Amino acid sequence: MTSAVRKSINQLFNKGQATQKQLIEMLDLDEEDAKILFEAADQKRKDMVGDGVHLRAIVEFSSACRCFCAYCGLNAGNKDIPRYSMSDDAILSAVETAHKADYRTVVLQSGEDLSFTQARVCALVQRIKQTYPDMAVTLSLGERSKEDYLAFKAAGADRYLIKHETSDPKIYHLLHPDSTLEKRLQATQSLIDTGFQTGGGFMIGLPGQTHAAIADDLLLLQKMNLRMAGIGPFIPHAATPLRHVPAGDIFLSLKAVALARLVLPKALVPATSSLNILAGDITLALKVGANVLMQKAEPENFRKMYEIYPKPLDGSALSDIRKRVTDKIESIGRYVSGTRGDYGEDVW
Ligand code: SAH
Repeated sequence: MTSAVRKSINQLFNKGQATQKQLIEMLDLDEEDAKILFEAADQKRKDMVGDGVHLRAIVEFSSACRCFCAYCGLNAGNKDIPRYSMSDDAILSAVETAHKADYRTVVLQSGEDLSFTQARVCALVQRIKQTYPDMAVTLSLGERSKEDYLAFKAAGADRYLIKHETSDPKIYHLLHPDSTLEKRLQATQSLIDTGFQTGGGFMIGLPGQTHAAIADDLLLLQKMNLRMAGIGPFIPHAATPLRHVPAGDIFLSLKAVALARLVLPKALVPATSSLNILAGDITLALKVGANVLMQKAEPENFRKMYEIYPKPLDGSALSDIRKRVTDKIESIGRYVSGTRGDYGEDVW
């Protein structure tokens, strides 16, 4: 490693600042030199948010979607897949299972399914909050109006996940016929203004994506001062226009996760499912800056159908999945956090 890159890592560790050029150099690091970056990110994670790992139960409640995102297996052009949309009672029952299994955050995620109107989502959030007042609710429903976001917040939702996917406007445009990068970022800003703990993120390995674009992705997360930063490798889905594009690189994804920890030291950084699936190991991202993990909490028959990208089906009960994940976390000297895992909560 050149002394210039070593200096960049030190500066990023101490001041939380790096230029696009410095970030590109860090994204270029080879396996041997990246160890220094990974150690710096792991130390920053320990210093800023401690050793606890926050577990989230994710209820993927509807695979119906009006959008045509080119990478996503649920895109509206994919006519051949069975779609499902859970009833409110079924969603509540999945939340109950998650609560019984000791989860204290439920993430409600779906395609852009307009049958979940503002009133319906609000009623759902209110029911969850009334029944389980100690449960944090995260929404991940895509782009909605500012009025919807305000209403969801007023109903009691705590957090919202909306990834910008790529900061390169040309790539964004090619992959998203339904939106623009500008609109996506406006939605993100509305969520922040509404008072949500707002999470962003992006994919690694999109066609045409350069290391400069990834550096810009990281700088964008930092500029928007997001509370959560989810970074995962793209995984091709056979029924999408990107079926022949190779999957994103695991090592590059890990470097991006490490850099996210360093540019946003206090953030909630998940070891994303796509990274865990490709790597075959949930501990890799946890060792380079991540401190959050999500587990599918919808009934088994729906888990396979929510196929954003191909993934092995784990049909085990949520409580069993949690036990297995807990053992893994403890095997690397970490522990499962017993708190809600809000932004800033365990910063000292
Ligand atoms: N409809 C919601 C939820 C999207 S799915 C929304 O618009 O925000 C959640 C995330 O899965 C996406 O933000 C994207 O980053 C990721 N994703 C989608 N397709 C993927 C693929 N083929 N490979 C890897 N990640 C993918």
